[in-house]
Amino acid sequence: MSETKGRLCPFVMENLKNNKFLKEDMKMSYVDEVYDLVVAKNPAQPEFHQAVKEVLESLRVVIEANEEKYRKDALLERIVTPERQILFRVPWVDDKGQVQVNNGFRVQFNSAIGPYKGGLRLHPSVNLGIIKFLGFEQIFKNSLTGLPIGGGKGGSDFDPKGKSDREVMAFCQSFITELYKYIGADTDVPAGDIGTGAREIGYMYGQYKRLTGLYEGVLTGKGLSYGGSLARTEATGYGLLYLVEEMLKCNGKELAGKTVAVSGAGNVAIYAIQKAQQLGAKPVTCSDSTGWIYDPEGIDVALLKEVKEVKRARLTEYAAARPSAQYHDKAKEGTNQWSVKVDIALPCATQNELNLEDAKTLVANGVFAVAEGANMPTTMDATEYFQKNGVLFCPGKASNAGGVATSALEMSQNSERLSWTFEEVDSKLKNIMVNIFHNLDDAAKKYGLEGNYVAGANIAGFLKVAEAMTAQGIV
Ligand code: NDP
Repeated sequence: MSETKGRLCPFVMENLKNNKFLKEDMKMSYVDEVYDLVVAKNPAQPEFHQAVKEVLESLRVVIEANEEKYRKDALLERIVTPERQILFRVPWVDDKGQVQVNNGFRVQFNSAIGPYKGGLRLHPSVNLGIIKFLGFEQIFKNSLTGLPIGGGKGGSDFDPKGKSDREVMAFCQSFITELYKYIGADTDVPAGDIGTGAREIGYMYGQYKRLTGLYEGVLTGKGLSYGGSLARTEATGYGLLYLVEEMLKCNGKELAGKTVAVSGAGNVAIYAIQKAQQLGAKPVTCSDSTGWIYDPEGIDVALLKEVKEVKRARLTEYAAARPSAQYHDKAKEGTNQWSVKVDIALPCATQNELNLEDAKTLVANGVFAVAEGANMPTTMDATEYFQKNGVLFCPGKASNAGGVATSALEMSQNSERLSWTFEEVDSKLKNIMVNIFHNLDDAAKKYGLEGNYVAGANIAGFLKVAEAMTAQGIV
């Protein structure tokens, strides 16, 4: 019913919803009602609709068991509505003296279990709907870590690619000159995401300190010389592999000796490839927005880091320096890394980068596990296809939670004015990832959905936030 109604114009939908008799007759479930409300109230935000649909669908069993109470408290309406959305202008001057203007966003989605926490995405595709989808997912991800952090996300349609360091600094300073009013070590702690790495965080931190005079843990992903945590750079990719290893172990399989397809060639992908190799697996692909690499000898991580982290160059440079690597141009060939025959797939680039066709190819080629390093990289129909075909599938809000978990460890170190060793942080990260897997596995089993890790992650993440929201009253 929600699919059909979702296509009606908002005016018609509003009338339908307000019609008492129709409502009683139709006996719409609370989940469907709230999903339709989200579509009607947030037009032209397909990624946000998709994220809400995926979460609400898998919570259906929990919501229906508590429907009367949740409905009376409008718990779902509150959880799908950001507490605050900050939209602002970011003017800056380029190297030619021309003034440029970008849009800035920070969505403070939910602070029931801790200060807002979530990254800043700098990419030309960024809009409010994308930031809302990411912020919404972040609520449940942060809850799953077991640490006291709420959900938020932000960013801008600024593209750091091809800009000089001075231009990136000018943008970051202007961005923080507005955003600093709304963030703080105990209120909202942004971090990196696509396009926001150590360089951008450094410029933002410097400007925050200059404006406020405060030397506090307001951003995470900081450099080691000014409050950053060891292992934060590696955390998302490493955490992904710790979770995959545990998921395989609990299903009577092992990671060592398996071939792996990875997409992306950024922070998450690089450290996922590195940890996969350390654990005895063989990653054979990586990609960026223009092309992908197939390297049957296994990806050379040192070379990949040199090309992407140092030179900020395209993957053609990797292929030029590595005789065993084949470079494929995505636009020219219409192919991608999911066409390679592998045992495990780890999408680590961006949302909706693995669709139903890709899922069919991967399954036909014998893939048995998929875990998301990126946020929502798998479309809903592809996810269902994997699940129906017995592929172990772990959603990003669980499998990429190592990044935000280690950010929370960075916040703890900043508060203590202490720095932990790499080994200490890495071992805490591993424990957190193993616990996340068991929490979602247990939640799925408890609700009769054994092996459905999407449902398990959403249920486990939701229950803690719902309990805190209920305890704190109508706020
Ligand atoms: P980076 O900017 O470091 O790398 C992103 C990679 O994905 C690049 O190789 C980039 O290629 C590619 N990419 C980006 N957009 C597109 C696109 N539209 N189409 C194809 N390829 C694209 O980002 P991260 O590695 O930090 O983030 C990757 C994903 O992981 C995102 O979904 C992010 O939200 C998620 N994530 C990141 C965390 C972190 O700690 N960094 C934590 C949890 C989740 P190109 O350079 O050509 O643009």
